[in-house]
Amino acid sequence: MNKPAPKPWIMDIAPYIPGRSTTDDGRTVAKLSSNENPLGTSPAARAAFAAAAGKLERYPDASATELRDAIAAANGLDAARIIYGNGSDEVLHLAAGAFAGPGDEVIHVRYGFAVYEIATRRVGATPVIAPDRDYATDVDAVLACVTDATRIVYIANPNNPTGTYAARDEIARLHAGLPPHVLLVLDHAYAEYIDGAAADGGMELAERASNVLVTRTFSKLYGLAAERIGWGYGAPELIEAMHRIRLPFSITIAGQNAAIAALADTDFVTHTRDHNARWRAWFADEIAKLGNAGLRAVPSQANFVLVVFEGAVTAEVAYKGLMDAGYIVRWLPGQGLAQGLRITIGTEEETRGVIAALRGIVGA
Ligand code: PMP
Repeated sequence: MNKPAPKPWIMDIAPYIPGRSTTDDGRTVAKLSSNENPLGTSPAARAAFAAAAGKLERYPDASATELRDAIAAANGLDAARIIYGNGSDEVLHLAAGAFAGPGDEVIHVRYGFAVYEIATRRVGATPVIAPDRDYATDVDAVLACVTDATRIVYIANPNNPTGTYAARDEIARLHAGLPPHVLLVLDHAYAEYIDGAAADGGMELAERASNVLVTRTFSKLYGLAAERIGWGYGAPELIEAMHRIRLPFSITIAGQNAAIAALADTDFVTHTRDHNARWRAWFADEIAKLGNAGLRAVPSQANFVLVVFEGAVTAEVAYKGLMDAGYIVRWLPGQGLAQGLRITIGTEEETRGVIAALRGIVGA
């Protein structure tokens, strides 16, 4: 060997491709490709961010004590059982880093979030992909994938990129069917967008079970994607193992302060949630009207909708047409989803604009 050799499993990783914000010819268009908050950020969070921005010479609090206390108080949780990360992406990686390695298997669903496969391969473990049921998580299919080598099951609920949601009894059945040594990671990046009071019971499972980790983020509902703040909640032994490998200072002082203020701004949170529920329902209804052209909205409980194209106009053609009309959405052929477009619920104007453009593209 005359040069450093990357581990073979690292070279099997397909690089993560983020949602785009400009076109090939450099035009900036409405970005509906990364499920960000179309209403921006809470003004209180913005002010807290600005107030902290001057303190550059000190490291942030490595334990994020104030932030963890604020999260615990807002959610009725035990602060000692919270771990934070540079986005929930980091927490998802920490789970794989602490609980899987070469020879182990890690399950996720087909059409799952791309980071699960990267986190799995990064530690030399093998991804095992459970088939979906019409884009939704199929608990029986997941359980059928479990072997003696399984160490982790990653489930996003709601799921990205499909928006589908597994209800509380389904998650309970999944957990009950897993051997106790398998870590169930319930990724709640979009859980705040679930209709009404419905919840998947994940936090209660994380409170009482020794093998459940719930991950959450400030990137979506709280409008703080730029600041990269996510967190996880689980049994003390799980959290303690992950703390051993995390980066000591992975979130900034300004970000921590912004997140604390964002938690307190319940008006902004409620407004965001109401906006999303209203326009998600409107968007799905409008797509249903394009059923004759072969368009179908997969039922979503998230802040985006997966539109499947089963008629003459393909998802690729619609993707390009929307780009020409000024909207970047997410087309995921690399994830085996060449037939669909994942479209973030934007402002009212953007949401109406996407539908108008789609009508034009399919000739409705
Ligand atoms: N989980 C899911 C399902 C996601 O869609 C995302 C964002 N794309 C994340 C986790 C990570 O979000 P963040 O790192 O910004 O917290």
